[in-house]
Amino acid sequence: MSAQLEVTLLQHTPDPDRAVAIAGRLCYAPVSAAELKQEMTDEGVAKLVRILVRSGHHSALEHASFTFAVDGVSRACTHQLVRHRVASYNQQSQRYVNFGAADSFVVPPSIAANAEAERVFLAAMEHARAAYDALVDLGMAEGRSRESVQEDARFVLPNAAETKIVVTMNARELRHFLRVRCCNRAQWEIRALAWRMRAMLRETAPGLFEGTGPGCLYGDCPEGKMTCGKPYRPEDVDGPGAGR
Ligand SMILES: Cc1cc2nc3c(=O)[nH]c(=O)nc-3n(C[C@H](O)[C@H](O)[C@H](O)COP(=O)(O)OP(=O)(O)OC[C@H]3O[C@@H](n4cnc5c(N)ncnc54)[C@H](O)[C@@H]3O)c2cc1C
Repeated sequence: MSAQLEVTLLQHTPDPDRAVAIAGRLCYAPVSAAELKQEMTDEGVAKLVRILVRSGHHSALEHASFTFAVDGVSRACTHQLVRHRVASYNQQSQRYVNFGAADSFVVPPSIAANAEAERVFLAAMEHARAAYDALVDLGMAEGRSRESVQEDARFVLPNAAETKIVVTMNARELRHFLRVRCCNRAQWEIRALAWRMRAMLRETAPGLFEGTGPGCLYGDCPEGKMTCGKPYRPEDVDGPGAGR
């Protein structure tokens, strides 16, 4: 069975909009940030966040961070995720954790939709798993530690190997991440992850995440000649029943 993507918003900066607004307002205020925390009304916070977001003065957005648990993704997906450098990550170790669970692979939907392709894929996964198990057994029989045995046995694991990762990004980096990874040009799995994260972020902090997602939602496709030619429409992603 294919591992399934699960995304959980573990935690975030308390009152993220206020944290951002205080930081933004401090630049022009004669009082301290602590005083601003008491003084600023909810309306004032919302208004300033809107101004900061729309004006592109995004440094204040770095004061709000969001932490996600991502399970059921492939190593192919997390390899792309960790290319985003303005973030913190912790990922399940292939040295310390044995790779043996039933749903330890992610099967791409296009392969699952084709019976013959799926048969070829699952046979390759089974072969990889059998090789992994055999290498672990052989290494353990030599009296080596499980850690060192698994460290080497993992070399036969495929890009499809399921993994779990915790990622923390600030709101500025998340806006960038959603811009490039919700785009149809992004790989399907990280795109699915990005859309899930976007939905949670817009529910949690709608002001901070206004105007997020691929460029085509808000105007011409920024990809030029590389465009997919299938622009997202706001009603598809943000209206009732949305979820693309
Ligand atoms: C559709 C798609 C296809 C891709 N294809 C490939 C591919 O074929 N090969 C490949 O190698 N990668 C590929 N990538 C990955 C891509 O090149 C980036 O590495 C990845 O998207 C991380 O984004 P980033 O570098 O913009 O920013 P992040 O690391 O998320 O950083 C955010 C922003 O901070 C700034 N920043 C961060 N670090 C620096 C720095 N050192 N100097 C200056 N400014 C910095 C930049 O403004 C950057 O945009 C692809 C990405 C996408 C979305």
